[in-house]
Parts: sequence; C-alpha cells; structure tokens
Amino acid sequence: MTDDAASTRTVIAPPPGQPVELPVLPPGSSDRKVLLVGVDGLRWDRIAEAEAPVLTALMADGLYATGAHDPASPAQTVSGPGWSTMATGTSPQRHGVCDNSFDGRRYDECPDFMTLAKRAKPDVQSCAVIDWAPLVDMGTFGPDVDVRIRFDGDRYGFYAEDLRAIDVATRVLSETDPDITFVYIGCVDEAGHRTGPLSSAYMARITAADEMIGRLLDAVRARPTYRDEQWLVLVSTDHGHLDEGGHGGPTEAERAIFVIAIGPGVPAGARMTGVRTVDVAPTALDHLGVVPDPSWRLEGRSLLRGSTVTPSH
Ligand SMILES: [Zn+2]
Repeated sequence: MTDDAASTRTVIAPPPGQPVELPVLPPGSSDRKVLLVGVDGLRWDRIAEAEAPVLTALMADGLYATGAHDPASPAQTVSGPGWSTMATGTSPQRHGVCDNSFDGRRYDECPDFMTLAKRAKPDVQSCAVIDWAPLVDMGTFGPDVDVRIRFDGDRYGFYAEDLRAIDVATRVLSETDPDITFVYIGCVDEAGHRTGPLSSAYMARITAADEMIGRLLDAVRARPTYRDEQWLVLVSTDHGHLDEGGHGGPTEAERAIFVIAIGPGVPAGARMTGVRTVDVAPTALDHLGVVPDPSWRLEGRSLLRGSTVTPSH
C-alpha cells in the first residue's frame, strides 16, 4: 500500500459478491449539501404512469422542471454527451463530447462541477458513485473529485450494479460527510433498450429506481447532523427514449429531459418548462454558495433563482 492520495481516490469495485471498501473522506466543509441523482434514460412523461411514490413526493414538495436537448446540438442524444453536459454545465459545443466515443472531450477546459466547487472552495468534499464506467474512466467526473467509486453495469448488469452502488452510496451518506454527492442509476435505460419506455418492464425499473432514490433520501434524513444541514436534492436524466426503445437521434422523445429540485428556497409545487441540462451544475454550485468564475463559461442558470419558477398552486 502506498500513501498516494490519488490512488485511493478512485475505487474500482470488485466483482459482485465481494465487499466494497469505503474510502476515507475527510469531513465536509459546510452544512450546505448537494445530492444529485442521475437516472439514465428516464423519459419524464412515464414517471406519472409508474408506481413512483418517492419521485412523486419530491415533485410535490419541490420544483419539477421539464425540457429538451437543443434540436440543433451537434451531439447525439446518448449518455456520453448528456452526462458531460450535466457534469460540466456546458454544451457539447464546448465540452466536445458528441457521442459515446468521448472523442474530442475537453474536460481540462470544462471540468465537472465538483471540481469547480473545489477550485472555489478547496475544503469542499465530493463523492461520485457510478456504475456506467465511462463516466469515471473518461473523466466526466474527473480525478479531482475526492472519491469516485466505480461499478460496472455493462459487465454485470445495471440493475444488480445499481443496487450495489446504492448500498455503497447510502454508506457514504451515513458514515461520511460529503458536501456534494453524485449517484448514477442505470437500470431504467437498460429496460428502455430492451422493451421500450412504454413497456411494463420499463415501468418496473422506474419503480426500482424510485426505491433506490428513497434509500438515498432515508440515509440523508437519518444523518445525526441532518437538522443542522441544508440539503439540496436534484434528480435528472441524460436523455429520453423512442417509444420503441433506443435513442441517439433528434426526436422530441429522445431529447426529453427533466430536473427535480428540492431544498431551501425551492417553492413546493413549483413547475417550469424549458429547463436545460446545463442548468444543473449552476444550481448545485449556487446552493453551495459558489459564485461561478466567468472563466468557467457555464452556460446554464441556477434554478434556485426565483423568477424562473412558479408554484402551481
Ligand atoms: Zn441508453
């Protein structure tokens, strides 16, 4: 064992059945916390049709914003560009990722928002738990994230790996003190590819993802310091799906995205259209009190700034 901090920052989870060691994460710097849950390929119009009590409650208690990727984007409606846009707060024209090859990526110029938060506030502690491996391997969530825990849904199946990732993420939220946590869920997209978003299998996976999000929220609310903390919870997706399953093209169904935001300053029942994936990073940074440096050239806006949201009641 070396003491090289960099080598302990990225944990490659062992194969299923073997325990995952939780890396040491120094105490967080603030009582302001962000949890971002990314659900791959979740077409928002299907949520209302699914058994999804956790998502439904979040929508009722916070902001539910819908939108779509720019039809003129040079990027395919696939995960590489979608998550790159969310992580960096910049469009594919800037971060350079237009498909799942990740060729042309410019994460050095457009790093993820956890890395940006640490530049502004070096004591910020961040953690990403991910089972779509390229988001770690390609550096979408980069090496300056304090802890990256990488599972492998492509190899072992997303539903099973999601469950393992959620186990670890709940331990991270319970036993350590991250200021920013990103958790990826892949099982909904997997079902979308197999049987399409209109299928009962897809709806069952929405329910499964809903339960996973519920477990993360339970872990947050059970923190002994929870009453002294201010949590912003964000849920979003990278792209939609064709009715028959699959994505990559420019149709409305494939470009469909949403953002749920719940936390201090977000009116219950707020609704918004026209949200963009680039809005996620500025929203997270805003909650943390990080003022984006103009040199970062973030393209979105914080959803916490009231004029953009209207309560529906
Ligand atoms: Zn997909």
